[in-house]
Amino acid sequence: MASHQNPFHIAQQQFDTAAELLGLHDSVRAILRVPQRELTVNFPVKLDDGSTKVYTGYRVQHNLSRGPVKGGIRYHPHMDLDEVRALAMWMTWKCALVSIPFGGAKGGVVVEPQELSLGELERLTRRFATEISILLGPDKDIPAPDMNTNAQIMAWIMDTISMHRGYTVPAVITGKPIEIGGSLGRLEATGRGVSLMVRETAHQLMRSLEGLRVVIQGFGNVGSVAAQLLHEQGCRVVGIADASGAFYCGSGLDIPAMRAYSVNQSHRQLTGYHAPGVEQLSGTELLELDCDVLIPAAVKNQIHEKNAVRIQAQVIVEGANGPTTPGADAILSDRGIIVVPDILANAGGVIVSYFEWVQGLQAFFWDEHDVNSRLEHILVRAFNQVWALAKARRLPLRTAAYLLAVQHVAEANMIRGLYP
Ligand code: NAD
Repeated sequence: MASHQNPFHIAQQQFDTAAELLGLHDSVRAILRVPQRELTVNFPVKLDDGSTKVYTGYRVQHNLSRGPVKGGIRYHPHMDLDEVRALAMWMTWKCALVSIPFGGAKGGVVVEPQELSLGELERLTRRFATEISILLGPDKDIPAPDMNTNAQIMAWIMDTISMHRGYTVPAVITGKPIEIGGSLGRLEATGRGVSLMVRETAHQLMRSLEGLRVVIQGFGNVGSVAAQLLHEQGCRVVGIADASGAFYCGSGLDIPAMRAYSVNQSHRQLTGYHAPGVEQLSGTELLELDCDVLIPAAVKNQIHEKNAVRIQAQVIVEGANGPTTPGADAILSDRGIIVVPDILANAGGVIVSYFEWVQGLQAFFWDEHDVNSRLEHILVRAFNQVWALAKARRLPLRTAAYLLAVQHVAEANMIRGLYP
């Protein structure tokens, strides 16, 4: 069971810890503690049966001091403004930590997309894009995919904004299909980044990837790509869960077979997956499996004060945003469990989104090897900075990452000064 702690309060608490350690001035603290802009929209969509339904959506821009804002669009039935605020704030720190010239934003619609037909999904997306279009633009706010959104949805958003402007605006969104200006490597970027963070942490702990026992919660874009890449590098992925169930095999799950299976299922889930030697577990049991690395790559608040004492992994690499509550962080730190925080571990997606934006603006496209090697360079550099600071000051990796990120954003704010 997930914890029900308010994610925005968690994000503010994490920021407060960093602000205190950095000795940030009260006025800068007050500015960075809250989002700069918040837009809530209620908009009608015509359904296939002829009726009309009003949906609620959000776009929150946390901080614009380091450049245009960047962050995903999520479709989820249990989303609210506070969750979007938290996600936007985490994007600010993530972009600053990996030194890409963006502030943070996030958005989404309160909807269960699996209940919509393709036509309804397209109409909902185009109307939502129109409602938030006053905020969007290549030099203002550039959305990307997140939970339950994908390249097709990004294409509809790009097309909608382009129709309004009267010309094609590829750089208004990232995570687009390659045919209309997407970047090679973007689809896999977040999962690739997660796998790099597992590799770098194992390296620091002088462990080989060969035979490393990995458990992954979430088998969507992030979880399934991380599983595949770690499997290819010799890790033993012993546990996988998605929203439909959890699966365990001590000798290692057949990840390519599970990916092929989920792609062929409706909603890309693992429901009904069977293979010799594979046991079914509950989602709760999966998180508490004996393993070397646990990768939460699904939803927020999965590791909390109640289950943190039972986590057996030596390392947690946060593919998801906000999977660990501050209470759990303290317990994990006391128990010597290393947590590679979300703002570092899942930054691969926004790094390659940055590359896609750069390529779109220049109309000059790179090959996949260039994309992946530049991604690795940026992410490993950030990892080394965080690891070195954590070691030097005996801090958890999350605190070290926050110190670096918040410092960059605070400096940008102070250098620019207060207008007017
Ligand atoms: P997705 O929609 O592609 O996949 C989500 C997966 O989580 C699915 O397999 C779903 O079945 C599973 N899931 C949902 N609820 C679950 C539960 N309670 N228990 C177990 N599994 C559950 O989404 P995604 O793009 O892979 O994103 C996953 C997480 O990673 C989110 O927190 C997202 O914010 C974060 N993230 C995504 C990206 C990206 O580029 N896609 C970048 C950074 C962070």
